[in-house]
Amino acid sequence: MILMQGKCVPKGVTSGPLYFFRRSSGEVTQRTVADIEGEKARLERAQAQSVEQLEALAEKCRAESGDESAVLFETHAMFVEDEDYVDCILSALEEEHCNVEYAVRQAGEQFAAMFAAMDDEYMQARAADIRDVTRRILNNLMGIVEGGIDSEEPVILAADDLAPSETLQLDKSKILGFITQGGSGNSHTAILARTMGIPAICGLGDALKQGYEGRTAYIDGETGKVCLEPDELTLQSFREKLAKQEQMRELMQTMRGQEDVTLDGRHIKVYCNIGSPEDVSAVLANDGQGIGLFRSEFLYLAASDYPTEEEQFQAYKSVAEAIGGKRVIIRTLDIGADKQVDYFHLTKEENPAMGLRAIRICLNRPEVFRTQLRALYRASAYGKVAIMFPMITSVWEVKECKRACKSVMAELTKEGIPFNPETEIGIMVETPASVFMARDLAKLVDFFSVGTNDLTQYTLACDRQCNDLGKFFDPHHPAILRALKMAADAAHAEGIWIGICGELGADLSLLPTFLAMGIDELSVSPASVLPLRAAIRRSIAQTCTLELLEG
Ligand code: PEP
Ligand code: MG
Repeated sequence: MILMQGKCVPKGVTSGPLYFFRRSSGEVTQRTVADIEGEKARLERAQAQSVEQLEALAEKCRAESGDESAVLFETHAMFVEDEDYVDCILSALEEEHCNVEYAVRQAGEQFAAMFAAMDDEYMQARAADIRDVTRRILNNLMGIVEGGIDSEEPVILAADDLAPSETLQLDKSKILGFITQGGSGNSHTAILARTMGIPAICGLGDALKQGYEGRTAYIDGETGKVCLEPDELTLQSFREKLAKQEQMRELMQTMRGQEDVTLDGRHIKVYCNIGSPEDVSAVLANDGQGIGLFRSEFLYLAASDYPTEEEQFQAYKSVAEAIGGKRVIIRTLDIGADKQVDYFHLTKEENPAMGLRAIRICLNRPEVFRTQLRALYRASAYGKVAIMFPMITSVWEVKECKRACKSVMAELTKEGIPFNPETEIGIMVETPASVFMARDLAKLVDFFSVGTNDLTQYTLACDRQCNDLGKFFDPHHPAILRALKMAADAAHAEGIWIGICGELGADLSLLPTFLAMGIDELSVSPASVLPLRAAIRRSIAQTCTLELLEG
């Protein structure tokens, strides 16, 4: 029996074959090639492969979601063989005697730039399609597996570590769970695993070896243990846990459709955190009462270039519509720190968590901010959209954000584009400065949502990415709970509501403390909704105390 110990991310047990993540930089360099006919033959093979993949995708879409999405893939398939595009690649091969990867990348960039420069917004948006097609041909030329998993059956994915952008691009239908050598339970990769409801264990270190690929792994998210070739006793305990997990899942189904209310009648909203429009199905399946945090930056992380206003609008609108009139709080771009996006070309920083990130980037790059705000306000006409700004520390920042909102609303009015002028505006309380300034900030906004992940790292001076901090990274620290209480009191004194969207919101042991503070909303991963509702429904708010704040 081989036993490895790591840190658990979401709870849950699962087993399956181990598969190591296939990573490739996908970087294309220029080489001089003598055999141009050989390069042309490679191009033909990659084109045929791409067309085959796109036709299969179109067929799948037609069966699952109708014609509209199928047409997109059919158009991509046609573009793979577009005469001008292919001529451009062939001329580069013949004139420059370069490798075909380089010729394809050049042609892709040239065509994408041409479309992006057009006046018509629809044609501009086609630049993204061209990049997508080019990426597919390049992947096929370089043998890169889309989604990192080349396996027919679902696997337990193993990796040294996974960046949030890599996690986002994984083919989720192929993953039973994932385990990593590095990483911390507070990173965005761990948060994504929770949103996906997939058991995960990080921080296994060197004990996780590439040579284990193909072996059946048993992972126990409750204890952080990964086991290969378990002995009879371990296997039996694993099977018992699996059966209990199933029973619990069924029991929790009885919570669907129930109110989020304590035994003595205190209501507290249970919302969900999501990272993409696809996550809405999990919100609905788990009966979330709204979306308390849509991490919009994951749209940027999954893209290879700035998402256009139209692309963002479609994403936000689809979420607002799919959630059927319930509140959707969309957080504006929060990149930086562990969420790095290449095309932003951010300067390398010594301490990126305290550097130019989140709202600071938006306030420094008004065009990026304006594009997102236009998309958000346009989406507000299709549901109950609210806008939330991350990493706020000062009153002037909120004032500047509100000025940007006003200017976007004026533009849309002038253009005759519908939007909701009453769209709620909120801020994340996730820096100690925002806690100290809470009373002043509350005067400017409609709601607060506490980001306990960052609030913990900044209050305790503990890097959330660091795996070795152990007991020093303590989200239950009285300093954090007191900060929460200060923010709640300030919010209520100014007549606004306050929620928690950090991971602490799902911590059932703190529910009595949150009830005692009068927290109005908890936004958690979709899989945590029903257990949280069950806990709320067994609580008596009046008997809850603030004793944990005493230290
Ligand atoms: C937080 O900081 O608690 C939060 C919800 O935002 P993120 O984890 O994306 O930084
Ligand atoms: Mg945060």
